[in-house]
Amino acid sequence: MCGIFGYTGVKRDAADAVLEGLQRLDYRGYDSWGIGVVHDGLHVGKKVGIVGKTQSLPKSSVGIGHTRWATHGAVTEINAHPHFSSDKSFILAHNGIAENADVLKSALIKEGYSFITETDTESIVRLVEKKLSKRLPLKDAVRAAFKELTGRNTIIVLAKNGDIVAARNGSPLVVGFGARDAEVYFSSDIFSFAPHVKETLVLDNGQMAVYQAGAFAVYDIASGKAVRAKREKNLLKDVAVDKGSYPHFMLKEIHEAPFVLRQVTHESENKYRELARAIKKARAVYCIGSGTAGAAAAQIAYYLRVYGGIPAISLIGAEASDYRDLIGPKDLLIAPSQSGETADVLEVLEIAKQRGAKIASFVNMPGSMMTRLSDYAFMAHAGPEICVMSTKIFVSQIAWGYLLAKAVEGTLPAGKRNLKQTALTIEKMLRDKKYVSLIEDHAKRLSKSKDIFLLGKGQNLQIIKEGMVKMIEGAYVHAHAIAAGDLKHYAITLMEPGVSVIATISNDTVKNDTLNAVHEVHARGASVFGIAPEPEKSFSHYLPVPDSGETTAIVNVIPLQLLAYFMAVTLKHNVDKPRNIAKSVTVR
Ligand code: GLU
Repeated sequence: MCGIFGYTGVKRDAADAVLEGLQRLDYRGYDSWGIGVVHDGLHVGKKVGIVGKTQSLPKSSVGIGHTRWATHGAVTEINAHPHFSSDKSFILAHNGIAENADVLKSALIKEGYSFITETDTESIVRLVEKKLSKRLPLKDAVRAAFKELTGRNTIIVLAKNGDIVAARNGSPLVVGFGARDAEVYFSSDIFSFAPHVKETLVLDNGQMAVYQAGAFAVYDIASGKAVRAKREKNLLKDVAVDKGSYPHFMLKEIHEAPFVLRQVTHESENKYRELARAIKKARAVYCIGSGTAGAAAAQIAYYLRVYGGIPAISLIGAEASDYRDLIGPKDLLIAPSQSGETADVLEVLEIAKQRGAKIASFVNMPGSMMTRLSDYAFMAHAGPEICVMSTKIFVSQIAWGYLLAKAVEGTLPAGKRNLKQTALTIEKMLRDKKYVSLIEDHAKRLSKSKDIFLLGKGQNLQIIKEGMVKMIEGAYVHAHAIAAGDLKHYAITLMEPGVSVIATISNDTVKNDTLNAVHEVHARGASVFGIAPEPEKSFSHYLPVPDSGETTAIVNVIPLQLLAYFMAVTLKHNVDKPRNIAKSVTVR
C-alpha cells in the first residue's frame, strides 16, 4: 500500500529519478503524491491524483517522494506527503499508521506545536522537530521519535543539507546502490529502481538507513548501534515494468501464466522434498492467505489433502485470530503471498513463529518480511505483477501448491511433467484468437448481468472463487461463488430467468454433482454458461477447456480471469487500478 522513494546521486536529476520511482510504485495503489528536493533549501510539489510531471521543481541531486493511500485525513494536497517541518529544515514522508498519533498530537499541542494537516504523519514530523530542538543530530532525533511510535510505520526524512534518514517498522524499505555508491536509492520495493542499481539491501523491521555527508550506514533503532547489513547483487536489472504491446497489465500478466508455471518447475526438487518432509512430520498444517492469496491458500490445502493425504486447513489472514492460541511448536504454516508483506497474514506468522511453529512461504517480491520469517522460503520468480488484481501470481501459487502436494505424495517428477504440459496447453489457448474472442463475446453478455453466480466443486471450488474475486474487483459486478452441492441449501431460491450462472465442470469424481446443480438452475430458467471439456444440454453458452487431468483446475483459471478482464474492459473500468483497492495491504 502506497510507496516511499528517495534518490541521492549526481547522475540524474533527483525530481526525475523520484518521479520515475513513484511511477514504478504506482501499482501499490495511492490517491495523491508528492516529491521534495533540495536546492538552496527544500522544495515540495504535491498533487491529488495520478503521478505525473506537473510540478516544476528545481534541479537537484537529492530528493524524496511518496504516494499516499490516505488513512488519516481526506485526500487533499495539504494532507499529501512529504510534510515540512515548521522551520522548513526537513521534510518527511510516511507509510503506515501511527496508532498513537492522537495522544502524541495532544501532548505536542500542549507544548506549543501547531498542526496544519489532518494526518497522523504530522505528529511524527512535530515529534522529530521536538527531538531536534533538544540539539540531537538528525539521525538521533528521527530514531528517538520513531521509538515513540506505535503501529507499523516506515518513514523517510530529507534534511535541507541533503542528508536522508529512513526507518522501518512496517511496510518494506529497500536500498539500491549504483556503481561505487555514486547513487543511492531508497524505496518500498526493489523493482522500482532495479534498472539503475548494482546492489540492493533490504532493511529489517527495527532498522534505519542513514545517508549522511556522502556515507551510507544502517543502524539498529532500539540500540542505536551500527549494523553490518548485507548487500546483495542486483539480479533484476532487466526486469521490464511496462505493458509491452498489451493494452493493460492485466492482459499481459494473464499471458504470462505459462512462464510462471515453468518458473515453479525450475525450483530445486530437494527444496520441495525438504518441505514435504516437514509437512509430513507436522502435527497440523495451516495454509494462510488474504484476498486472492486466500483462495490460493485454500487450493494449496486442497492439493495437500488430495495428493498428499495431509489434513491441511486453510485460513483467511484476517480471520485467523481464533487459531493463534492453538498453534504450537509442532505445527507448520504455509503462506502464499505476492508481496510477502500482507499485514494480517504477517501478524499470524509472527505469532506462530514465537510459538515455535515452522513457516513456509511462497512469495514473489524479493526481500520481503515473509521470506525473512520463513524456515522454508520459496520465490515465485514471476517478475513484477503490476495490475492491482493478481492473476499470474494466483496461477503460480496454486501450481506451486500442486507440486508441493506431489512431493508429499512422492511423485514430484510426474507433477513437474504435468505442469510443463499445462504451460503448453495454456499457451495454445491464449494464442488461439478465435477462442479469446469467444471469451470476449461471453464477457460482453455477462457484463450486462446484475448478479452472477459461479458453480464449482472439488478442484474447481477455489477457481470459481478466483473468478468471483476478479469479477467483483475489476468489473464491479456482483458475483457469488457457491459450492455446487450447497446450491440447493440456499441460493436455489434466486434461480429464475435472467440470472447468469457460470459453471466449471471437469472430468473428475465430482462431475455429476456439479452437473446436477447445473440441471437444477437450468430447470428454473437461469442462463448457464458452461466451462467444461464437453458441452452439456443444460448449457446456454459454452466455452470448451481441455481436460488436463490433475492440473485441470489450473487451466480453468485462465478463461475465468479473461472473462473478468473483458468484463472490466467492456464496462470501461480502470482495469489495472480498480477503485478503492491497493495491491499489497500492509495495514490492518
Ligand atoms: N497514515 C498516513 C496518512 O494518512 C500515511 C498513509 C500512507 O501510508 O500512505 O497520510
